[in-house]
Amino acid sequence: MEVEGKVALVTGAAQGIGKAIIRELLENGASVSLIDIAVEKGEEYKTLLDEEFGEGKAIFIVCDVTNQDQLTDAFQQTVDHFGKLNIVVNNAGINNEKNWEKTINVNLNGMIRGTYLALKHMRKDEGGEGGLIVNMSSLAAHTCTSGLFSRSHFIQRNLAPAPPPLIATQSGSRACTKLSQPNQQDRERERAAHVPGLMPAAHQPVYTATKSGIIGFTRAIAAASEVGQYGVRINTIAPGFVNTALLQSIEHEENMGEYYKYEANIKEMMNHYGILEPLIVAKGVIELAENDTLNGAVMKITVSAGIHYEEYGPQYQAKMR
Ligand code: NAD
Repeated sequence: MEVEGKVALVTGAAQGIGKAIIRELLENGASVSLIDIAVEKGEEYKTLLDEEFGEGKAIFIVCDVTNQDQLTDAFQQTVDHFGKLNIVVNNAGINNEKNWEKTINVNLNGMIRGTYLALKHMRKDEGGEGGLIVNMSSLAAHTCTSGLFSRSHFIQRNLAPAPPPLIATQSGSRACTKLSQPNQQDRERERAAHVPGLMPAAHQPVYTATKSGIIGFTRAIAAASEVGQYGVRINTIAPGFVNTALLQSIEHEENMGEYYKYEANIKEMMNHYGILEPLIVAKGVIELAENDTLNGAVMKITVSAGIHYEEYGPQYQAKMR
């Protein structure tokens, strides 16, 4: 899909990764709808975008993704304003282990809500024009193929003395049926590549649950889209640490709760793995838009390896016909 001339809706668009995605979409010729609860930041950014890209290319809608009526309205306003909807990025997310139910509401329920609303407007089998949905996950997620490289590494670095690492060995299998030590080859690959894979984060169990849920939901709904011929591609991006306000949440007990004590370990991990700039994640969205073969893909982004993809084995790669 060419981004030029398309209409995109991005949640969590007033700052951080969402803000960068908005700019990249505009630079590639799209019109954009910014969705966020942060009223001042959203309005300021919209004013700036009007100056830079000309009035009429961007609208800002105040909306809480946890509120079904508000989000339904925001989608409708976007379609009413621009006349169509082609790309939806469900990006809004928080890190709050203390108020963990809110984290599930924003990160997972908000993303599922946004996906269903996007499908309602875009499904070809229901009169829509098709399109792309991108759901923002994180490397702090777990799937059945995850953890081969970095999980043992994380345990060694953060929870010494290291218990036997739990490693899913059946790469490409539907179920994590067997847990074992990483083999020598895996260890060498880890050392050589220095690439963190998807991994559960000891300091963010609920955040990890939401980000893993996003991957599971997205891959399942991508398969449903293929089977039902929705004409909508649905993919996930899983970045490592990104230089945004969300990173600072680890410094606050009101965000981290009992995991606040891991602050120094998390900072050490940031030093070790490096911190991405939001721009590369925004470029990932453009890549997902332009590559029409990708559906159900999990794009991983790390400092050391850049943009690359989780491998699930050919039998589980949902591809659009
Ligand atoms: P951020 O805090 O800079 O931006 C998040 C944006 O979401 C803010 O503008 C905020 O107002 C908005 N938001 C929060 N709750 C909302 C709600 N209920 N309704 C509407 N908008 C809401 O964070 P970020 O780093 O840009 O995070 C964006 C996404 O990327 C999140 O899903 C996050 O989990 C994910 N992510 C971040 C990192 C990282 O290291 N920063 C890494 C991997 C994934």
